[in-house]
Amino acid sequence: MGVGGASRLTEKVAEILDKYPGGIKLIDSIEYLVTWARANSLWPLVYGTACCAMEMMATGSSRHDWARFGVEVARATPRQADLIILAGTIVEKMGGNLITLYKQMPAPKYVIAMGSCAISGGPFYYDAYSVIKGGDRLIPVDVYVPGCPPRPEALLYGIMELQKKIKEEGRRKPWKIGKLLKVPFIDPHTLAKEDWAMLEQKKESRQQQAREQFKTDNPDYRPPKPTRLPKEKFAVVPRMQLSTTGRENEHLFSIIQNSWPAISLFRQPDIRPETVAELGPEYILDLEVEQEHYLDLVRFLKEDKELGMDMLLQLTAVDWHDHFDIIVHLLSSKNGYKIFLRSPVTKAKPEIVTISTLFLGAEWHEREVYDLFGIRFDGHPDMRRLFLNDDFPGHPLCKDFEDPERVVKRPY
Ligand code: SF4
Repeated sequence: MGVGGASRLTEKVAEILDKYPGGIKLIDSIEYLVTWARANSLWPLVYGTACCAMEMMATGSSRHDWARFGVEVARATPRQADLIILAGTIVEKMGGNLITLYKQMPAPKYVIAMGSCAISGGPFYYDAYSVIKGGDRLIPVDVYVPGCPPRPEALLYGIMELQKKIKEEGRRKPWKIGKLLKVPFIDPHTLAKEDWAMLEQKKESRQQQAREQFKTDNPDYRPPKPTRLPKEKFAVVPRMQLSTTGRENEHLFSIIQNSWPAISLFRQPDIRPETVAELGPEYILDLEVEQEHYLDLVRFLKEDKELGMDMLLQLTAVDWHDHFDIIVHLLSSKNGYKIFLRSPVTKAKPEIVTISTLFLGAEWHEREVYDLFGIRFDGHPDMRRLFLNDDFPGHPLCKDFEDPERVVKRPY
């Protein structure tokens, strides 16, 4: 019989025994035993979403060994767990799953919020559209363990606090599902900033008084004149040259320009192969191409024997307010050189052809760009959002994205 069953049994037996002398004491003792057993046999759910999970795992492993506290057999299914430790950042997309997991745990069940992220959003409190600012906005939390991340000792202390709490439960103070904190939205940093400004004002006025007083007490005082120290001369440290394999920039550019005479470099419209060298050995070619030639140029860069840009490192976008740029970063795995390629996309029609037909890996990159910028890729086999829920309002990396519900701006 589980401890939940035992509590129901004490409830029934209590109805009979309470009436007799000593009956209450007997029931209290049974209850003590039940809650003692419950507190010392916590079964945590395997749940870790970010760096705090490392500390949680360390708490469970040999050095700290949470089994000594009766916390053991981490369960891979919520149906066999009665404790969930929120170890890490909780993003919006994870929110629904977390609620489902919590609902599937049998009662009585407990929650520990481990680390700043699980308590309040932590370092992602500001400017983050995707982070939930505290696990208690989703499920009731019993114990909060502060830190970023908290050390295993802190988590063990949190577990001991939870055990104390469980041991206080019983017939007179039964476990019941907690309520979400109805805390009005408070921006603690702004409040702290206001308090700080008030203190600064007080300090300033006290200092002013002290200055006046000093002048009255020492009418002949003249402050010493500062002496200038000669400017120190630092030795010039030569910059390390990037070790290059393969071709020089001017050679790469001339190969491309031979087949694409209209090609130019980003912010260098009139560049010629002879002048590319002036951009320095560390410069990486940053080609700019109109949309209609985008796919063909990527194909050329990949298939040309001498260039052989056979590896897609990254595909991303930039919002320039009036238009987007799609940026592709390619590498020649044989020769080691890299090339950027960008193509403008209008805001009125945010569409461009997919390059997933050339690089399979582009599929996910393009989905990410669609998710975060709203740019569609024609011919993409699976144009869906990647990170955010389908009903997320807007595309959060666009410069005009605004959602005060999700994004708290920094107060400075
Ligand atoms: S609180 Fe710090 S350590 Fe823990 S998940 Fe957040 S960022 Fe990582």
